[in-house]
Amino acid sequence: MDALCGGVPNSRTSKDSHNVSSDNQTDIQAETTVEAPEVTFADLGLSQKVLSAVHDAGYVNPTPIQAGAIPHALQGKDVLGIAQTGTGKTAAFVLPMITRLEKGRARARMPRTLILEPTRELAAQVEENFVKYGKNHRLNIALLIGGVSFDEQEKKLERGADVLIATPGRLLDHFERGKLLLTGVDILVIDEADRMLDMGFIPDIERIAKLIPFTRQTLFFSATMPPEITKLTEQFLQAPVRIEVSKAASTGVNIVQRLVKSKSKGWDKRETLRKLIRAEEDELKNAIIFCNRKVDVSELFRSLVKHDFDAGALHGDMDHARAWPCWRHSAKAS
Ligand code: AMP
Repeated sequence: MDALCGGVPNSRTSKDSHNVSSDNQTDIQAETTVEAPEVTFADLGLSQKVLSAVHDAGYVNPTPIQAGAIPHALQGKDVLGIAQTGTGKTAAFVLPMITRLEKGRARARMPRTLILEPTRELAAQVEENFVKYGKNHRLNIALLIGGVSFDEQEKKLERGADVLIATPGRLLDHFERGKLLLTGVDILVIDEADRMLDMGFIPDIERIAKLIPFTRQTLFFSATMPPEITKLTEQFLQAPVRIEVSKAASTGVNIVQRLVKSKSKGWDKRETLRKLIRAEEDELKNAIIFCNRKVDVSELFRSLVKHDFDAGALHGDMDHARAWPCWRHSAKAS
């Protein structure tokens, strides 16, 4: 097996969480969704067509941000969702939007809803969500992102977009070319607001918001609430319903954490480690071992090599020439 020593705590991936207990080992279960609400999607007020698409996607229970935001969004209220990626926040705005879009139709160059995303990738993911959950609807979706020809995007706008998903810069480019009117936007979504801030998009967003009627509904999502974002919410949102969901579990469900007892001396710990590695022989092809001091990295590395393990070492004091072959070797082995 290959071992690579670096610097922080250790973890191990496994699909089976029952194979690791013995006298001196304790499994630490990954924190999974402790707060799973008992409500089902059918309780939230979504339309039958949307519920059918959600059912086909295989989801039964809404996540906390969905359970919290969807009923209010359906009532036309402004929502401030403090939630990060991975909490299901995309469906928290996509599902009520599709339901609300069932009434009315799009007019040329006047999108009915606008979703602002900081990156092309996120914008494309949101589009995928509309396709998945809007499979029973005939929604015109326009995606305005950089790196794609203006002509193609203009054609979609010309046809009339129910849903316009855009990055701020490209949206303003279209606006300046006179191909877009934002006066028909009923729902504005600002997603990943704190990332927008990091990327310097706030002035663009302020400009865009001024082009949209004040009577719109605004759904605003941010993982964190730095003062600049709080200020923005005060400016953009009217009597918003605030939904804050706890941080997603920091440990993936496929990660098994173990606490292994050992005597305290360095050689005791190294012996415990060797036993652990050897016990896993067939299953374990490569591993990363983190230590909290550079000196421990060097010592452990020498010890592993002495005991015939194929090991490399890496820490901040090593120059690239020495560290790089170690990473390359490790990547090849994995
Ligand atoms: P998001 O936070 O919107 O990026 O969503 C994270 C992941 O959760 C996506 O892969 C969704 O497909 C999935 N997801 C969204 N809603 C649910 C739900 N109610 N139950 C299970 N998974 C969901």
